[in-house]
Amino acid sequence: MGISLRAESLGKSYGRPGAPIQKVLSDLSFAIDDGEWVVIMGDSGSGKSTLLNILAGIDPFDTGSLFLDGRPWGELNDEEKTLTRRREMGFIFQNYNLFPFLSAFENVALPARLNGRRDREAVLALLGEVGLGDKSAKFPSQLSGGEQQRVAVARALVHRPRLLLADEPTGALDHLTGERILDLMRQLHREFRPTIVMSTHSLDAARYGDRILYLRDGRFVPSPS
Ligand code: ADP
Ligand code: MG
Repeated sequence: MGISLRAESLGKSYGRPGAPIQKVLSDLSFAIDDGEWVVIMGDSGSGKSTLLNILAGIDPFDTGSLFLDGRPWGELNDEEKTLTRRREMGFIFQNYNLFPFLSAFENVALPARLNGRRDREAVLALLGEVGLGDKSAKFPSQLSGGEQQRVAVARALVHRPRLLLADEPTGALDHLTGERILDLMRQLHREFRPTIVMSTHSLDAARYGDRILYLRDGRFVPSPS
């Protein structure tokens, strides 16, 4: 049910006219299987968010190639990327990124609605599953950080995406709350079998994945140090 990913010599630089070019990702090659949960570990600034944004098709890459289920991502036009993102991907961010003027229910319902579906029952069932059955009418500002992240997990999975991209999903949470979010992701991963690519600083969080890739200065290295 997941998406398989393959990258060959992926590279990205940032440059401004008159300033030296900064290489953010260099020569990244990897393959991720359908349904695998892969963890990207690395210090702040090592390129984790850049890599996830490239996988999401939000950021372009400069060199190399990237394939989703064997399709070259770089050759899709913007509309095809938007549709793929909307239908097949879910996102969880460090800072939840909920819409402040939408209730928990409306935040979770949004991805399904963008796909032209109104699935009230599924939204309520998933909110129940993440332990927020009684808080569906609350707005983000009325929820704790852990509760907001549970809304974000529900929102990322309600349309049964085949690829879940999670950028430091527990980075803003205390240890116990973070563990609850990861347990929830594990439960939903077993249920829906999406492919997961998750970045984190935390070794405890990394243990939830099947495999860890270590990023340092935009390159994969064999082990942390
Ligand atoms: P991480 O998520 O691992 O902390 P990032 O992917 O956010 O790392 O950033 C990697 C490097 O790319 C950093 O040195 C950062 O300053 C740089 N960078 C990120 N986004 C931009 C941008 N839009 N313009 C210029 N440099 C950027
Ligand atoms: Mg980051």
